[in-house]
Amino acid sequence: MIQLIRGFKDILPDETETWRHIEDTAIALFQSFGFKEIRLPIVEKAELFQRSIGELTDIVEKEMYTFAGSKEELITLRPEATASVVRSYIQQKLYAKEPIQKLYTIGPMFRRERPQKGRYRQFYQINAEVFGIASPYIDAQLIFMLWTFFERLKISGLTVQLNSLGCPACRPTFKAALSSFLASKTESLCKDCVRRQDKNPLRVLDCKVPSCQEAIGDAPSMTDYLCEDCAGHFNSVQSALKQQGIPFELTPRLVRGLDYYTRTAFEIQTNALGAQNAIAGGGRYDMLVKMLDGPEQPAIGFAIGLDRLAALVMQGHPQEELAPDIFIAALGEESREKTFEWSCALSVEGIRTEIDFSGKSLKALMKRANRINAANVLIVGTQEIEDSAIVLRNMVTKEQVTVPIEGMVNYIKKYLTTQNRVV
Ligand code: AMP
Repeated sequence: MIQLIRGFKDILPDETETWRHIEDTAIALFQSFGFKEIRLPIVEKAELFQRSIGELTDIVEKEMYTFAGSKEELITLRPEATASVVRSYIQQKLYAKEPIQKLYTIGPMFRRERPQKGRYRQFYQINAEVFGIASPYIDAQLIFMLWTFFERLKISGLTVQLNSLGCPACRPTFKAALSSFLASKTESLCKDCVRRQDKNPLRVLDCKVPSCQEAIGDAPSMTDYLCEDCAGHFNSVQSALKQQGIPFELTPRLVRGLDYYTRTAFEIQTNALGAQNAIAGGGRYDMLVKMLDGPEQPAIGFAIGLDRLAALVMQGHPQEELAPDIFIAALGEESREKTFEWSCALSVEGIRTEIDFSGKSLKALMKRANRINAANVLIVGTQEIEDSAIVLRNMVTKEQVTVPIEGMVNYIKKYLTTQNRVV
């Protein structure tokens, strides 16, 4: 038997309704905040991610699926969406029509991470990105939108972690302070962090190795090094969050795994999923559009991890089954022509209908109707058609009614409304 590749997973029918519910909730909410959908390829030039995410990040150093697209060109299965959205904003000149763009996209991402519960090599994200707005109000509004989204999904036990990563004016001083702090801890750092401590010391702050976490206990915090503008921005974000009643925790170690962030960085964590507790994260990336050869435009965005979120929504609330409203037990070949036609007509009317073509006995068909949780069974044999006495059996109350052949679809529709099955 050929099996799934390690780190990949199937999303089965008993989960997909939940996934769709999450996506529909996001789309409806995001649209009311002015977002429009953008759909992008799942492969891009490797260079796009190397330049945006940063050469010295976990993602670019060891997690990308990169292969030859042609002799000259390396291509990569996208490990995240922001870089692609920025690429499109620049290439399609979306800024020329209207610099302020609010875009969302939903789809799979690929990272060759060590697979474990809640961490996959293909996982799904809902991304939202805003271009062209520098105001701290948009930072707060995005976090408010995320918070509202989780509220709509009835998720509790969440915390918002908030930090500021400064800007090119103030970050270098912080980096230098962090580097010299790390120099005194070299012997406790993992070999990746030793390598990064000079060039990219921020990465050490979110290294998952426990000894590194311990070593950075007293490391300096970016927020103590913010320039006046960044400090003002950060304060305004916090005030606006308070104004909207969003609880948050200041988290100086939160740097997020990508290099392009500036100023506001945030993460939403849950207390209900064990080790993989981050269900959304994002931040401002005011330099990225310019860095990728676009115009100077500020930007901010976030990504929600759909796999983890679906697990959370389903915890204790398995999704409702899409059981048939009507199961047609077609008895004998002779009734097949009619039952086939009726089953099509019922489905066209929006009635969830299942018909069994196997020609098995009534007993066997009733067994299957039970197994698939059919609400009602329409029992049809040649005799029943001749007598115009087709029986509709309610599988819960066991009540039976006789259904007229003429106007059958309407009769069944009405009957289903009495069962509160909305058709
Ligand atoms: P990131 O793009 O790393 O900021 O991730 C944003 C969100 O995507 C995280 O908060 C997770 O919920 C989710 N996520 C990231 N990596 C994975 C993964 N390997 N498997 C499942 N979900 C992931």
